[in-house]
Amino acid sequence: MNECIFCRIAAGELAADVIARNDVAIAIRDLNPQAPEHALVIPVKHADNLGDYVAIAGAAEVGGLLSLASQVGRSASPSGHRIVVNEGGDGGQTVHHLHLHVLAGRRMTWPPG
Ligand code: AMP
Ligand code: ZN
Repeated sequence: MNECIFCRIAAGELAADVIARNDVAIAIRDLNPQAPEHALVIPVKHADNLGDYVAIAGAAEVGGLLSLASQVGRSASPSGHRIVVNEGGDGGQTVHHLHLHVLAGRRMTWPPG
């Protein structure tokens, strides 16, 4: 059995609060939100991180992933949002299936921590 939690969520084997989906990705609410609106946009196809995903996915899949993240962000707030991808230890990545964080509902600060 696939042990990757985001593969299992994308396959419908594990419960999640699904916000939206398209042909290549699913958007769910983050279990530990860091903003009033915090979604994760997860490609159905497994890749550990963004670098691996762009190496295995076609341009249409990468575009579909970004498109869903943008749609979720714009729906979450009319006054803006932030999209973040963590990669590797220094990037703060803890789940090793690519996901885009979509944060909205408060004023973001820069630089991020
Ligand atoms: P990262 O540190 O960038 O790898 O982010 C992983 C994110 O996944 C964190 O924000 C977690 O709160 C979130 N997370 C982990 N497991 C789940 C889950 N089962 N459902 C929703 N969000 C999750
Ligand atoms: Zn996976």
